[in-house]
Formats: sequence, C-alpha cells, structure tokens
Amino acid sequence: MIQSPTIAALATGGGLSAIAVIRVSGSDAFSIVDKCFKGKSGKRLSDQPANTIHFGEIISHSTGSGGASTGSGGATGFKESTVIDEVLISIFKEPRSFTGEDTLEISCHGSVYIQQQILTILFASGAVPAKPGEFTQRAFLNGKMDLSQAEAVADLIASENKASHELAFKQLRGGYSDQIKQLREQLMNFAALIELELDFSGEDVEFADRSMLKALVDHTLIVINKLRDSFALGNALKNGIPVTIAGRPNAGKSTLLNALLNEERAIVSHIPGTTRDTVEDVLVIDGISFRFIDTAGLRDTKDEIESIGIARSYAKIKEAEIILYLFDTLEMFQSEVENDILLLKEKTGENKLIIPVGNKTDQLHKKPQEQFKELKDVAWISAKEKKGIDQLKGRLHKHVNLGFTSKDETIVTNARHVDALGRAALNLVTVQQGLTSQITSHFLAIDIRSAIHALSEITGQVTSDDLLGLIFGKFCIGK
Ligand code: GDP
Repeated sequence: MIQSPTIAALATGGGLSAIAVIRVSGSDAFSIVDKCFKGKSGKRLSDQPANTIHFGEIISHSTGSGGASTGSGGATGFKESTVIDEVLISIFKEPRSFTGEDTLEISCHGSVYIQQQILTILFASGAVPAKPGEFTQRAFLNGKMDLSQAEAVADLIASENKASHELAFKQLRGGYSDQIKQLREQLMNFAALIELELDFSGEDVEFADRSMLKALVDHTLIVINKLRDSFALGNALKNGIPVTIAGRPNAGKSTLLNALLNEERAIVSHIPGTTRDTVEDVLVIDGISFRFIDTAGLRDTKDEIESIGIARSYAKIKEAEIILYLFDTLEMFQSEVENDILLLKEKTGENKLIIPVGNKTDQLHKKPQEQFKELKDVAWISAKEKKGIDQLKGRLHKHVNLGFTSKDETIVTNARHVDALGRAALNLVTVQQGLTSQITSHFLAIDIRSAIHALSEITGQVTSDDLLGLIFGKFCIGK
C-alpha cells in the first residue's frame, strides 16, 4: 500500500445538478471528513462499519478575527459554525474500495456554491485536490486493476453507443489481460531457464527445450497477430465505422447523406484518437456508430485544380472501411458503373467493402435490375424519396455486426496496446529467427526479455511515470 496524501475532488459533472458527489480517498479520509461532518447518529464516521451510508450535516467552522460577532472565543479567534448542506456519505474502508484506500463519497445538493464550499472545507482540513484520473491511478497502483482495465474505465465513461460500451466493459472485466499475462508468464519461464544456461556457459548444457520454446513462440505470435488484426474493427467500433459516399457529381451524394441522417443526425465534435480536419456526421444504426466522411465528386478531368480535389477524395476514401459507390441510374451505363468500381478498387488497394448504390430509381421507367443485369449486390434507392434507405442501413449494420460477433471475445480498441503488441511480435520474430540460426543463449534471452517487456506494458507490470502521466492525464478530474 502506497502512502500518498488524501485527495478530494468532485466526481460528478461540475455544473448545477440535483445532487453532486464529492470523493475523498486516502489514509486521512475519515479524520478529514469527521472534522466537518455532524452525523444524525452522533457517531464519528470512522467508528461506523464499512460499506454503509450516513445522513448528517456538513459544517463550516470558520475562525473570525475580532469585531462584532455572535461567535465565541473573545475578541479574536472566535469560531463561527455554519451548516453548508445536509448530505449522505457512503464509506468504504481499505482495501475494499475503488482506489484500495479509505474512501468516502459525499452526496450533496448539486448547487455549484455547495460543491465549492464542501471542497474548500476539505482542502482546509488537509485534503489535496485530486489530479486528473488520480483515483483510478491509485486503484491501479494499489493493485485493484491492471493498466488495461484502468484505461477501460476512461473508455467506459466516454462510450457513446452500444458497441463501444460493450467493448469497454469487456476490457474492464479483464478482457485479454489474462491471455497476455499467461503468455508473458510462459515466456518468463523460458527466459529464466535460458538465463540459467548462461551460468553454466562453459558446460554446454541446455535447460530450455528449444522445440518447446519454438512452439510457444509460434503460438504466442499467432495470438498476438490476431489481437493486432482486431484493432481495425475495434478502433472503428470505438470511434465510429468510417464510411464514404463516393460517386460522380450529381449522383445524389448529398441527398443520400441527408436521407441517411434524417432525424437521427448527430454531430460529434470530439472523437478521441482520430485526427480529422472536418467534423463528420455520425449515424448510429442499432447501437453501432457510422462516421460519414465527405468526398468531392469523382470524374476524369483535365482541370488541374479539380484533379487535386479528386486526389484528396481518393485519400479520404482510403480512410473508409466501407465505400458506398453511388451512381445515377438515369445517366449511367452498366459498363461505366463497372469501370468506376474497378477504378475505386484499384485506388483503394485493400479489400474494402464497396457497396454499389443505384440512385434515382423513382425516375426510372423499368426495373433497375433489368437495366443493370450484370451488376451484383446493388442497393437500389431513391435518395430523394427516401426509398431503400432502411435496407441500405440494414446492410451497413449487418456487415459490421458479422465481423463483430465472429471475432467473439477479443477485440483490441487501444492504440497503445497495438503498439506494444507490434513490438512484442517483432521481438518474437527475432526469437524465431534466432532459434533457426541457433544463436547463443545470451542473445535469445535478450530478445525474449524484450518481448516480455512489451507485453508487460499492456497490463502495466512495467510502467514509467511518463506513461502513467500520459494515460491518466487524459482522464477527467474526480475519476
Ligand atoms: P451530389 O453532387 O452527388 O452531391 O448530388 P446532389 O445530392 O446534390 O443531387 C444532384 C441532383 O440530383 C439534385 O438536383 C437532386 O435533387 C437530385 N437527386 C438526388 N437524388 C435523387 C433521387 O433519388 N431522385 C431524383 N429524381 N433526383 C435525385
């Protein structure tokens, strides 16, 4: 148990509200709050059992400095007592609290004045203001959770939809921490055996079975690479699946965007972890967020300025997971549509999902399926009359949801974890190569240790102050 100053902070929103909660955590939490709390039961909070709630008053004892007053204590230094609020206080005793320390949570009325008065009293009684994320940081340092779980607390608070909530909750419950810890332990056993060999270097002994080590490294790499692969989906689910609507000018892209967003339009101004130069439109379909990225119309052009715009559009399209290729069924021939799709595939490279969407079917005199016989899996719509829009939404949802559920439990959503997994993988590939080329135990041990180090960063068995500062600095105060 680390001994740190007792901290206090507002845990709720900060503005006016029905009630507000102020948290106090640390070894002096009880004595500090007892100084300003008068319980209805007459007992001190420190004498009450853990995990109970107590009704009473928060009292401000201010010291006057002379002059006319009703206080006691003579001309100077008289005491004045003012009741600030009636409150409920929940008490938790170490180690059975969120932080692992003695913790009290004061539920007061949500007036900003009351919140500030209570905090002022607590600070005057010996508490210090909590830094951002300090409660969760203490929970981590006191072994209540590992680092990836602590990060999940922030994700959970920030979750805005069913999918991101589900992912954060899984990570909070342990997620793949156990898997990582297990792999790390197995690698540590081998590292220890190999290091033992170094002590007997003159005697040509081999404590670590090389074929077993190779099998473990191979297996670990498979697990790690699967986790790394899951990040594309994890990140997209957390921040919204990026979708672009691409197509020639006047295909109806803006009309389609409006039809899709309809009343469910939601503009998210801040999405962590993504760099964007525009605020995009976010649409939540059945609990999954889709982030629509604008693009300019695509067409062949000799105009230099327009070509720059189109090159930018392709760059944007590359950011997308899903491309809605929109075409005007009145204007386009089947061969043109096919060419456009081929070009899109060529430009975007990877195998992204391209959904062809045929628009303006309201004006078409025959069935679109007859006119565009050879085109497969087209979504036929009229953006203007909002026809076929629900089916299109259903298709977007189904595509993502399939990927989500087929990857059952483990989806990585944290860029820091992917970075650490990448470094672990690199080191393990070096171990694989070392085993093939029969390098010395000394170098083998170094590479295994580096892989272990990278894995340990995820769960926080190795950390630095810088890393902790970076992670917890992003939390809000009071968490
Ligand atoms: P963008 O340049 O691709 O963004 O195309 P717009 O959304 O600005 O639409 C171009 C023109 O097509 C506008 O006059 C729209 O009203 C029209 N339009 C779009 N969707 C439809 C549709 O489903 N049916 C019909 N008849 N016209 C449409």
